[in-house]
Amino acid sequence: MIAYEVIRSKRKSLGLEVKPDGRVIVRAPRWVPDLALRQFVQRNRDWILARQRQAQRWQQEHPRPEALSEEELAQLVKQARRRFGERAAYFAPRVGVDYARIAIRKQRSKWGSCSSKGNLNFNCLLMLAPEEVLDYVVVHELCHRLEMNHSPRFWAQVKRVLPDYEQSRRWLRQNGAELMARLPEK
Ligand SMILES: [Zn+2]
Repeated sequence: MIAYEVIRSKRKSLGLEVKPDGRVIVRAPRWVPDLALRQFVQRNRDWILARQRQAQRWQQEHPRPEALSEEELAQLVKQARRRFGERAAYFAPRVGVDYARIAIRKQRSKWGSCSSKGNLNFNCLLMLAPEEVLDYVVVHELCHRLEMNHSPRFWAQVKRVLPDYEQSRRWLRQNGAELMARLPEK
């Protein structure tokens, strides 16, 4: 007997999905009786088991990155304070802006931010990224001093200072989640 979760909606047909963690999701129209769902799962048993084996193999080959210890994090924050201070001081005149204070954060949601008062926040995990990626985030936030949006004008400013910034953006898109996963669960 295969365990599964049912998600009912306005859809018109049955759908089957095996999540990366092996959970089985059945998507179904509201009117289909539970018995029909059980039969549906039973009919697709071989497919589900093959998918689950595949998911398990994937997880064994790609273990979750190890969480940083509290000491390691404290060390990163300390290094980040100095490094972001230096890089912001270096890039601010190149962007043509000033800034107020810099704060280092440990967060899973953002790499950096810039307030309307010019306060800059940076994620300490960027210390584990390539240097040019850290620089890109610094320049990105400094450019928000000119444009508080992500308009073409904003990106033109980023490109003016860092012509290769697209590579760093791509790096973050591809590796960002894994980096964020190194923060210990609260
Ligand atoms: Zn932004």
